Amino acid sequence: MDQSKLIASEAVADMVTQAIPDDERLWVPQAENVWFRPLLLNSTEGQWVNLLRVRRSGVLSRHRHPAPVHGYVIKGSWRYLEHDWIARQGMYVFEPPGEVHTLVVDEDVEEMITFFHVFGALIYFDQDDRPVAHDDVHTKIEMCKRHFEAVGLGADFVKQFVR
Ligand code: FE
Repeated sequence: MDQSKLIASEAVADMVTQAIPDDERLWVPQAENVWFRPLLLNSTEGQWVNLLRVRRSGVLSRHRHPAPVHGYVIKGSWRYLEHDWIARQGMYVFEPPGEVHTLVVDEDVEEMITFFHVFGALIYFDQDDRPVAHDDVHTKIEMCKRHFEAVGLGADFVKQFVR
């Protein structure tokens, strides 16, 4: 028996794609002047891989991760108010689970694009540390469906990113 065929018969489809797409419709609006570009939406393990694109300065969100996040800054820069480092173009960031932090993009940054691999969820907090909303792979899939339907690609367009 051919071993490679045995393994492949149970494997899900691979994916090789232009991460920063030519088609603007692949950027899903998250907030005003904030978009995400889905790459991999893992609905069985509760994690997702996406690019975050921001074209405004100021506070983007105050949030907490119950699970780890890996980031790679493709363009521009960003930081957390709670830390003294700045994530700049070309840098890798590991966010361990557990802390509440406040994502900001500074005024001199015209556009920020960062690759994020997020496990679990982002829980959003208000200024008084009360949880007000969350995102997980399922809210991401829903946002994609609504957006892709609205721009004429169809809700099922999201399925190519789901594993
Ligand atoms: Fe974070």
